[in-house]
Amino acid sequence: MDTSKKFQEHIVQSPWESVRKNDWDDWKWQLKNRITSVDQLEELIELSPEEKKGCLFANKKLALAITPYFFNLINRTQLDDPIRKQVIPRVEETFTSKGELLDPVGEDGSSPVEGIVHRYPDRVLFLVTDRCASYCRYCTRSRLVSNAQSYNFHPRFEAGLEYIRNNPQIRDVLLSGGDPLLLSNNKLDKLLGELRKIEHVEFIRIGSRIPVFLPQRINTELCGILKKHGPIWMSIHVNHPNECSLTLKEACDKLAFSGVPLGNQSVLLKGINNTTDILKNLIHKLLLMRVRPYYLYQCDLINGSAHLRTDPREGIELIRSLRGHTTGYAIPQFVIDAPGGGGKVPINPNYIESITENAIVFRNFEGKRYSYPLNKRDLHKTPDDYPDLIEPLLHN
Ligand SMILES: *Cc1c(COP(=O)(O)O)cnc(C)c1O
Repeated sequence: MDTSKKFQEHIVQSPWESVRKNDWDDWKWQLKNRITSVDQLEELIELSPEEKKGCLFANKKLALAITPYFFNLINRTQLDDPIRKQVIPRVEETFTSKGELLDPVGEDGSSPVEGIVHRYPDRVLFLVTDRCASYCRYCTRSRLVSNAQSYNFHPRFEAGLEYIRNNPQIRDVLLSGGDPLLLSNNKLDKLLGELRKIEHVEFIRIGSRIPVFLPQRINTELCGILKKHGPIWMSIHVNHPNECSLTLKEACDKLAFSGVPLGNQSVLLKGINNTTDILKNLIHKLLLMRVRPYYLYQCDLINGSAHLRTDPREGIELIRSLRGHTTGYAIPQFVIDAPGGGGKVPINPNYIESITENAIVFRNFEGKRYSYPLNKRDLHKTPDDYPDLIEPLLHN
């Protein structure tokens, strides 16, 4: 089967048709030509009043920025386009609903030095920049990325590296931000080199939406750096099948061929990806791009995100509709990052009906009931518990 047809971009007519291909394919051109103001946006797309108000407010909360490449994936005639809703601000962002927080998963409370979040004993989140190529309107770190709020987050690596060096229980470092792949090659090379020098750090991964927002960044030089310090694992962030362009596929190919194992983290978002059909289409495309769906997040209680959040029970039912109905590799783990700082907790459909002294009774993906025996007397036995069985063997 020729799968490349599945990755065709549906661009109606690019507003950047006259741009030279060399420029378009240059990540620095894409960054320089980002859409960052309501005036620029209005030249390209007809905004609804709610969007226009959202844009006018954005610079006080989370800056507006969209790369031309990503903008082109929007079907501009559709107000409910799933890509549009991820990156074009809306007035609802200015409303704070009950339970919403500036730091919804309590990262600041687990931060021993600026830029490090140390929640799980053996691993740290290392925030190495406050910039992204484009800004997701539901960003869980809107307090500190894009510099729109007066949060004064100044990522400097030295304190973070020193903390990791001094804490030998840290075996896993997750680079995030902002987007680590916006660092220059030189900085990224040095940072990865310093981490590799630390004896107790065995696992390094990068959380990045650059392959999705700015696939042009995934060039030979960058791949060379990732390969040199490998294995480096990477979690990308795709929410909707329309993001799975041929350009993204090619970027994923380059990463995979450079020895980077790829995972995907999606956020379950109302009106964007909260149906079985959309999620199934997405995870199938991810597999074709060599990307293993990793987490599906319940949207954090970030300020101004109520219009995008779903009921967690919907997530449970969506997972139930996938598990057993498609390739196991394609199923992400649905998690809630516990409000206030408890970490990620798996939230699963319940397949277990009962556990008695004799059996565990459960239902399969079709709802049919099965059981597996629990023979208490046989639990935890070693060969020594069976002298009558072993003895004859020894004497023969
Ligand atoms: C998500 C996260 C990690 C990594 O968690 P995994 O379940 O290992 O992917 C580490 N630290 C923090 C603070 C996190 O939020």
